[in-house]
Amino acid sequence: MYVVNLVFDIPLHHHYSYLSHQPLEIGQRVSAKLRNKEQIGFVIAIVEANQFSDYPLDKLQHISNIHSDIIPKDIVNLCNFAATYYHHSYGSTIFCAIPALLRKISSRADITLPNNKHYQLTKTGQTYKPRGKKLINLWHQLNLSSLSWQQIKETLGVKPDKLINDWLSIGIISEISPPIATNIATDIVANEEQAKIINIIGNHLGEFHPALLYGITGSGKTEVFLQLIHKVLLNKKQILVLIPEINLTPQLAARFQARVPSARIKVLNSEVSEKERYITWLQAKDGETDLILGTRLSIFTPFARLGLIIVDEEHDASFKQNDSLRYHARDLAIYRAKTLNIPIMMASATPSLESLYNYKLGKFHLYKLTKRAVSNAILPEINIVNLTHYPVNQAGISNPALDAIKNCISRKELALVFINRRGYAPILSCYDCGWISQCKNCSSRMVYHNNSNKLKCHHCGYQTRVPSACPKCHNQYLHTIGHGTQKLEEFLANQFPNAKIRRIDRDTTNHKDDWQELYQEINQHKIDILVGTQMLAKGHDFPNLTLVVGINIDNALFSYDFRASEDMFNILTQVTGRAGRAAKPGQVILQTNYPDHPVYQFLQKHDFEGFINYTLKERKQNQLPPFAYQALVKLSSTNEKQLLRAMHELSIINKKLNCKNITVFPPVPAVMYKLHNRYRGQMLLSSRSREHLHSYLNQLEPFLSEINYLTVAIDVDPLEV
Ligand SMILES: [Zn+2]
Ligand SMILES: [Zn+2]
Repeated sequence: MYVVNLVFDIPLHHHYSYLSHQPLEIGQRVSAKLRNKEQIGFVIAIVEANQFSDYPLDKLQHISNIHSDIIPKDIVNLCNFAATYYHHSYGSTIFCAIPALLRKISSRADITLPNNKHYQLTKTGQTYKPRGKKLINLWHQLNLSSLSWQQIKETLGVKPDKLINDWLSIGIISEISPPIATNIATDIVANEEQAKIINIIGNHLGEFHPALLYGITGSGKTEVFLQLIHKVLLNKKQILVLIPEINLTPQLAARFQARVPSARIKVLNSEVSEKERYITWLQAKDGETDLILGTRLSIFTPFARLGLIIVDEEHDASFKQNDSLRYHARDLAIYRAKTLNIPIMMASATPSLESLYNYKLGKFHLYKLTKRAVSNAILPEINIVNLTHYPVNQAGISNPALDAIKNCISRKELALVFINRRGYAPILSCYDCGWISQCKNCSSRMVYHNNSNKLKCHHCGYQTRVPSACPKCHNQYLHTIGHGTQKLEEFLANQFPNAKIRRIDRDTTNHKDDWQELYQEINQHKIDILVGTQMLAKGHDFPNLTLVVGINIDNALFSYDFRASEDMFNILTQVTGRAGRAAKPGQVILQTNYPDHPVYQFLQKHDFEGFINYTLKERKQNQLPPFAYQALVKLSSTNEKQLLRAMHELSIINKKLNCKNITVFPPVPAVMYKLHNRYRGQMLLSSRSREHLHSYLNQLEPFLSEINYLTVAIDVDPLEV
């Protein structure tokens, strides 16, 4: 008899002990009764019953069922680390990490795995004389090379299980493990910079080597990835490539597949079904997938023989999850690479301050790509338009920008107008009584969308019809304030009636098919002007694009969020990096009221390092990350009084705790005080020592679990403060 400790999907930190007749493995999926209900649990520890002394054995229940799935040890270990570091319950962390189908009892009963087996002729088989046209054909093919179950099925035109069993039983064929992907389309030669990096990292396979790849836009980071991937495949290892949510996975996957045609590549993003996700999980675990290309959740994918992790656009905020388990996939990837002793490559044209600081501390190796990969492509010229001299029109565009667009389309080249707000205008207002389009659920304004004639809240999704008159004073003349993509699109269509304009934002472009269509239209020169949000900034390559115009970019300069200017610099670097990637030179126009602001000065000079040094200095002076570690305690409730009560309680608790080497800021209302009908407050903790921050959180946690009348969450290393 054995005692097994189980964790369940509950927010509590403790585990539960049960009896088992069998010595189960760590990570084993079982079901057991908890609070009189059958639930799925996972084994985190096992002892022989006679060694167990916590309770009398007759107080323990037996587990009810043992299921076939086991989470591999390194993933259990990763979950344990994440639970401790992010102060989240161990059980909930495991449930977050696994495919949804494993979370519920018997929900995966109907899944049949694709057959991945391969077969080859035996010595006996080579002299065998099958009868019938189809079987002879199959035998000839097997004589040339081994075949997969799928290939045999295609040859026969029917399910081949019976035939395979017959042939196996009389020794004509034998089962073999699938051949490893090794060939690569090698028509592309790496340039000198790329080759050097590929070589160095290639010499560090099989050891922990955290590499920060800083490559300017268009410098061919993907080529470095592909050639490294090839090296790792030759070593018969698997690869995990993490990419931001918004990136075009189908396009990228196709590009990878074209270069390593025999590699088994799987994509994991939000469009993948639960069933497919589970199958991919199993295949990676069993070593039947060579490469996973996925968004942040893929960091929890088990691999039989992981050999390399790549984090592309490592600075991207979508690697951080902002609810439930608030983890950062890049940071977990570093931990995973370290425990597996494998290299990790984190790449960006605008690396995060955290990663650059890690390089300065000697924790990361830095590799640079300073030249654009297309040999005669140069960085675009960046022109700053001072809006105090050139006022903007009703759509937010200045005359110099308008002239540049006109010239660009007359050259039959593509122009991109970037504005980071979708909809027509961010506010609808009545000038008579001062009414504005406030969301009833949030402390935010409803955005006016003219195409659907609706007011929409971009935070909670609430929408209403646009009122025909002011709801307060019945004035019929309502005004829009500010600019969005729809207003720009409308204005440009009037201004350039012969130009073809496409708007790219979350309202128009949501599915991968939309992107494919867009690519086709652009390649066929069917579009003259693109109007879009930052969706356009990342990872897209439009060869004919030679002009980028940035509208309304000043907002981030004076934000309450200390990361806003870093984010803006990154987005603008990415957007401006789109211009002139092929042989044609590019031009960028940035409209601002603050042309002397250091951010624009650095942008204009393409001086990322100057910007980084300037920002690091500023952060150091203010004791902000990466010079300090932060955590947020977040409170939220539908009842405002309870929120205020909890904030008050929290400030009393803090006085009782040992706050050595830690700054505890008083609880305050969140910047977005009301969101989706919930009132929100937060308390910021900051320390120069990670250990002290965690020890404070450990002291705090028991008190937090007593504030159980509202939602309390801890966010370690928050990206939004
Ligand atoms: Zn009014
Ligand atoms: Zn709202």
